[in-house]
Amino acid sequence: MNRYVTQHRRDAMALVTASVSLTWAELSAESARLAHFLERVAPEARHIGLRAANSADYVIAVHAIHLLGKVLIPLNTRLTMSELSGQIETADIDVLLVDEPIDLSITQFELTSRDEASLATPHEWADDEVMSLMFTSGTTGRAKAVKQTFGNHIASADAAKTRLGYGMSDQMLIVTPLFHMSGLAQVYRSARFGSTLYVEPKFDVVRTLELIETARITHISLVAVMLQRLLDAGLSRQQLRLLLVGGGPVPRPLLEEAERRQLPVAQTYGMTETCSQVATLLPSEALAHIGSSGQAISPTQLRINANGEIEVNGPTVTPGYYKQPEADAWTPDGYWRTGDLGTIKDGYLYVHDRRSDLIISGGENIYPAEIESVLLRCPGIQDVGVVGRPDPTWGAIPVAFTVGTFDFDEAIQLLHDHLASYKHPKAWIAVDELPRNANGKLMRHRLKEADHDSSR
Ligand code: ATP
Ligand code: MG
Repeated sequence: MNRYVTQHRRDAMALVTASVSLTWAELSAESARLAHFLERVAPEARHIGLRAANSADYVIAVHAIHLLGKVLIPLNTRLTMSELSGQIETADIDVLLVDEPIDLSITQFELTSRDEASLATPHEWADDEVMSLMFTSGTTGRAKAVKQTFGNHIASADAAKTRLGYGMSDQMLIVTPLFHMSGLAQVYRSARFGSTLYVEPKFDVVRTLELIETARITHISLVAVMLQRLLDAGLSRQQLRLLLVGGGPVPRPLLEEAERRQLPVAQTYGMTETCSQVATLLPSEALAHIGSSGQAISPTQLRINANGEIEVNGPTVTPGYYKQPEADAWTPDGYWRTGDLGTIKDGYLYVHDRRSDLIISGGENIYPAEIESVLLRCPGIQDVGVVGRPDPTWGAIPVAFTVGTFDFDEAIQLLHDHLASYKHPKAWIAVDELPRNANGKLMRHRLKEADHDSSR
């Protein structure tokens, strides 16, 4: 079985957007025609960049590139031209598939290109062949190109099925960018299990609620801020069987509210380097282990090293970064250092924060995410980000950036009720919005820069 799209019922629905509905037969045909086109116009191209908004054509292109046995490089649509040209160079991209032409000197083809004829013989993938280069989110700095093999993607999809249950009758909704792992992983899962994929160009609260209701969505993948907005807009269970929430810590009040509404929220932990999630807390376990990212998904193994850092080993772990082996994070015995701090209690993983975000104040460890989670309970605080500020006495002190108007005394009271006083922010800065990347993640290094600039 080295064809990565499993045979599905040809007339079953494969892909649905606001403007297009394709059966598996139609999706295969479209992909094979784009593959034929690419083989004809760029036979020498090995690395194919894909720069486009989420659409049916995007999914068709992913399949076309893999049918050809070429390497897919999804590119973030929010990058500036200079960042984009840097990534094109880093990943040795030969040609680009685009939804609108960009002003760079590289061969570009329209995403909608098709030949009349279809590619006759799909590539047979070997487990260790690199199938994609995916850039990390660039949350902590410059994005790195992660090698992902056929074996990585298949292992990731199969582990998700075993642990979370996916099947032909599922309707999966994608509202996160397909150029990040959480979005792209759903494309592979649907291809492997025959579920129907609903693809939205971007996250829109009203549209998402409508689809959950009318299209009887069973699976959706979100980041915490999206879940928050859906809850605010009245999200109820409907046919949902799984709301995967990952990419960053999920604040406790959010989990509690989801629990009250009996929403099957699964907190997940993973990264581009592990081809999507490596641990997931099932909805049935949520109450007993609130705040945990769950147990490792077999056969992946997790452990915590002497510095409190999470290390991971298993078939979904990347063979390394592309052309940047010095950044690889192997331990001598073959585990991958994640750069995240965590603990494991009774087999359940608790992710605290990134090593680089940890604030050490007077010798005590302070996790910014813990403070943010408490402050988010305060009415009026719409968003909050905490970073460390260098301090001559303490080494570092926590500083809170807040969005929204709130009662300061109420915030202080909450801090007193929930956190030791060394964890309380020592300075407060009101801002209009926080620097979040395309996946909604807080870029704390930007906040640190802003704090540095403001305190000069
Ligand atoms: P970069 O590596 O370029 O700085 P990034 O690490 O944000 O960016 P991704 O691979 O998209 O890029 O994200 C993986 C990271 O997201 C994890 O290493 C971890 O820091 C964070 N993360 C993912 N899931 C969780 C979770 N459940 N709880 C806390 N943090 C999480
Ligand atoms: Mg990372």
